[in-house]
Amino acid sequence: MFDFYNFKYYTYSIIMIDGKRLTILTEGAKYDVSCSSSGSRRKNKFGEIGNASFAGICHSFTQDGRCISLLKMLMSNDCVYDCKYCVNRASNGVERATATPDEICELVMSFYKRNYIEGLFLSSAIVKNPNHTMEMLYLTALKLRKDYHFNGYIHLKGIPNADKSLIEAAGLVADRMSFNIELPSETSLKLLAPQKSKPAIIEPMKALALDKYYESPFKRRRDFLPAGQTTQMIIGASPESDAHILKLTEHLYSTYKLKRVYYSSYMPTNFDTSLLPYAPAPKIREHRLYQADWLLRFYGFTAGEITGSDGNLSFEYDPKCAWAIKNMGLFPVEVNTAPLDMLLRVPGIGVKTASRIIVARKHAKLDFDALKRLRVVLKRAMHFITCGGKFIGSKNEYDVGRLLAAGETYAVKQLSMFDNSDAAISALNGEL
Ligand code: SF4
Repeated sequence: MFDFYNFKYYTYSIIMIDGKRLTILTEGAKYDVSCSSSGSRRKNKFGEIGNASFAGICHSFTQDGRCISLLKMLMSNDCVYDCKYCVNRASNGVERATATPDEICELVMSFYKRNYIEGLFLSSAIVKNPNHTMEMLYLTALKLRKDYHFNGYIHLKGIPNADKSLIEAAGLVADRMSFNIELPSETSLKLLAPQKSKPAIIEPMKALALDKYYESPFKRRRDFLPAGQTTQMIIGASPESDAHILKLTEHLYSTYKLKRVYYSSYMPTNFDTSLLPYAPAPKIREHRLYQADWLLRFYGFTAGEITGSDGNLSFEYDPKCAWAIKNMGLFPVEVNTAPLDMLLRVPGIGVKTASRIIVARKHAKLDFDALKRLRVVLKRAMHFITCGGKFIGSKNEYDVGRLLAAGETYAVKQLSMFDNSDAAISALNGEL
């Protein structure tokens, strides 16, 4: 096999990228949401610059809600593909720009040294062909590691249809890679991104999940994508239901050991085709999918039980509340005796709170005051629990629904750092 890691590469003349190209390349990257926290821990080494922190690179969000936590840019937006939904498609008359590996390296280092960024998320349109593109992405990461001794976080976009050995070599220099699913079904892919195919996206995902890259079933090798792989799906560009999307998500987590699946609400950029909706997908749908995703990963729910009879998630309630209201017959449960899997299904009791309850009730019988101290959100939980046999909620499905929906204001307002509402607390700690 060709030794990509040690091959001799050509050094371009080193100049800083100009502001115009940088604007084009960073603007073009904002639609990709498949990056957030690093999930990778690496200490600074003597003679090298930077480190990667497990706690995640701090996030910030642009006005339109996109994550700009890393230096997030495209290597090029000069695409030879023509995906209908994409602003960078070959047939779109936008300004084109491409950066060389050295320009990107210089930029990363100068930003890192100024403390502007903590890592790099590098994606690209397909320049010339998939192999050329993957090679340039890989070369950039390799140069950062070898020439610039950059020890910080690198997330590389994987290019479907690129040579397997190139993808494997990229895994040795990047912390994380993501092959984007983009559209949740093969039919939609054929219709809207005809140069892409399901096998071309799935095969590299499968390759990156091989046992040889793991030290143990759940722990990756430190030298090969220590932060694992992620993917992104565009929501609302095609007609797939939430049930379909969540089934696919469940499959991706269990089969390809993905760290995260990201959902990106469709934003119209192409008004020349009747194949795409004219309106953007509602942000609340993306939000509900993230909540449902959380339930799949940490709360023991399966995709089949979260969605409604129409196959979609409710906009009105979060998916855990919607499930609880639909299954009122299973409640109330006694907090002093209920098993962990049932406590996790109570709205207002999150993963941490459920564990605290399990520990605390070994020592004393819990009452409602104790639950408050354990950070149970009683406003929600009271309709689904008894405490020492006492019930203080409502058993009327309609009333419970109305009361729970009343707290759901975060769909339309910006959360404040100092907001003490259920929604703000849930957004900060991820507990549902
Ligand atoms: S491959 Fe498709 S989605 Fe990616 S940049 Fe090119 S046109 Fe856009």
